[in-house]
Amino acid sequence: MMKGYKPILFKLHIVIILLLFMMLAHPAIAEAKSNKLNFQIQKKTIVIDPGHGGYDKGAKGPDGTFEKNVTMELARVLAAELEKTYKVILTRTDDYWIDILKRTAMANHLNADMFISIHTGGSFLHQASGISLYYYEKVSTSALMLETESMEGTKSSNFKERWSNVQGRHQKNSKIFAERILNSLKKKIGKTVEYNTEIQGAPLMVLEGADTPAILIEIGYITNPKEEKSLNDINVLSDIAEKIKNGIDDFFEKAP
Ligand SMILES: [Zn+2]
Repeated sequence: MMKGYKPILFKLHIVIILLLFMMLAHPAIAEAKSNKLNFQIQKKTIVIDPGHGGYDKGAKGPDGTFEKNVTMELARVLAAELEKTYKVILTRTDDYWIDILKRTAMANHLNADMFISIHTGGSFLHQASGISLYYYEKVSTSALMLETESMEGTKSSNFKERWSNVQGRHQKNSKIFAERILNSLKKKIGKTVEYNTEIQGAPLMVLEGADTPAILIEIGYITNPKEEKSLNDINVLSDIAEKIKNGIDDFFEKAP
C-alpha cells in the first residue's frame, strides 16, 4: 500500500500545478486584470439633478419652452449615457418639485461620488448665449445673481444646518470637475456644435450642501431664440450628454 502512495502524491502535485497554470492563463482572468480600472469606475454613484419641476417652471423661451422640461430631457439622455458605466440616480424622474436642499441631501444619503445640477440660462438679453459651468464658491466671482440662489423653495432649517458649507472641502475638486467638463465640451466630436463655455465660482444654494464634488451646468440660454431651438433638438442634447460623460470619465480616471 505504501509503495503506490508516493507516485500518486507526485501526480497530484503536477495536476495542481497544471490547474493553477490554466487558471492564470485563462483569458477571463487576464481580461479582469486589464479591466480593473473600468471596474473601479463602475462602482461610482452619480446623482443628476434636473433643475426646477412642477409649479416651478424655471426660465421660459420666446417660443414657450420651459426650462424644467429641457433639464428633465437632458437628465434622461445623460443618465442613459452614463448608466453603461456608473450607478446613476436622478433627484426627480418626472415633472414635480423637490426642495433645493433635499436634492443635495439625496446625494449625501446615497454617498454619491458626484452631483450635477442641470439648468438652462435665462436672461432678459436675447443675445445671451453659451454654456456656463458653476462650482460652489462662498464669494461670487461674478455679480450675477442666479435664479437658484434666490429660489429657496420650502427651506428646511434642519437640512440647512446639517449640510451647511460641507461643499467647502470639495471646492477644489468641484472646480477640477468643472474644468474636465469644460475641456470635453470644447472638443469637437465629428459634426458637432461648438459651444461657448465658461467656468464661474458662485455661492449657489443647490451646491452648498453637497458632500461630494458638485457642479451646476447651464446648457445654453433658453431666452435666446436660436438656443431655445437647439435645446429642443435631441441631437444637440445627445451631443452635450456625450461630452459631459467624457468629462466625467476623465475626472475619475485622473482622480486626485
Ligand atoms: Zn434654472
